[in-house]
Amino acid sequence: MTGETIFSRIIKGEIPCDEIYSDDKCIAFRDIEPQAPVHILVIPKKTIVNLKEVGAEEQELLGHLLLISAQIAKKEGLEDWRTVINTGAEAGQTVFHLHIHIIGGRKLNWPPG
Ligand code: 5GP
Repeated sequence: MTGETIFSRIIKGEIPCDEIYSDDKCIAFRDIEPQAPVHILVIPKKTIVNLKEVGAEEQELLGHLLLISAQIAKKEGLEDWRTVINTGAEAGQTVFHLHIHIIGGRKLNWPPG
């Protein structure tokens, strides 16, 4: 499944974002509706809908996304944070382009709703 999403348009530069990191594989920017003092999204530049469709060939990319998300969280000054990947509508996914949420800067409750 490939399709245009708000995030594919951000990658193409058609929609502005508050970008904080970019490399050949991914881009990170601040969430437009932050749920915490720090709320950043890390997304692959490659079009991937969600974790349902990733195979072993994406192992390196997925590892890269996680490592970059940790680097960004530390650079933001977070000591503790949460990384979230919503997979499917029932799990809260609203943008169907794979993304990692980095959420922190306040006490986070568990379990999430
Ligand atoms: P999901 O609910 O799919 O896990 O997360 C999608 C996230 O994208 C939400 O937190 C939402 O606030 C954010 N978002 C949606 N549209 C935009 C946008 O145009 N720009 C930015 N920066 N974030 C967006």
